[in-house]
Amino acid sequence: MAFALPPLPFAQDALEPHISANTLSFHYGKHHNAYVTNLNNLVGETDKSLEEIIKETSGDASKAGVFNNAAQVWNHTFYWSSLKPGGGGAPPSTPPAGDVAAGIDAAFGSYDKFVEEFKTAAVTQFGSGWAWLVQDGGEFKIVKTANADTPIAHGQTPLITCDVWEHAYYLDFQNRRPDYVQAFLDHLVNWDFAAQNLG
Ligand code: MN
Repeated sequence: MAFALPPLPFAQDALEPHISANTLSFHYGKHHNAYVTNLNNLVGETDKSLEEIIKETSGDASKAGVFNNAAQVWNHTFYWSSLKPGGGGAPPSTPPAGDVAAGIDAAFGSYDKFVEEFKTAAVTQFGSGWAWLVQDGGEFKIVKTANADTPIAHGQTPLITCDVWEHAYYLDFQNRRPDYVQAFLDHLVNWDFAAQNLG
């Protein structure tokens, strides 16, 4: 079976004014779509899941093309779910996000400290990549990955991610990655999705 581009979980203009419909028309409609097309061209008909393909090809230089496209398909689908209109700010300390709030306090000391560390990771990822809040052995951590790399290839459980490739923010923020990351944290993070991902 071929892989399909999953539908966006919100309307293309739903994240404005922070992320424009124009950005999403390129980022979802062109970039994400191209990763799906490239992956299908590379693997053909397969019964394997995206996750299986990612784990099997991770670290194998001869399979870099398959890994990069498969991981980028997975990462983008996860990124759209990490966003919601009217999201962001501190996670509610009541269910379903209550455990996320508690996990953040346990790992970072406070939500403000989490914000500081997440921003540092997202802004200092040199070139293209991703910033993530993950669970690693049950503990909350902030990690950054380069290019297509993804925590699921390293045994970690992602809770949310922020795409820091320039294509994610350049039309709206130009070179101002810190402003994009701030908007992500203040207005867009989907904490309900983070709570659903808790291991
Ligand atoms: Mn992207």
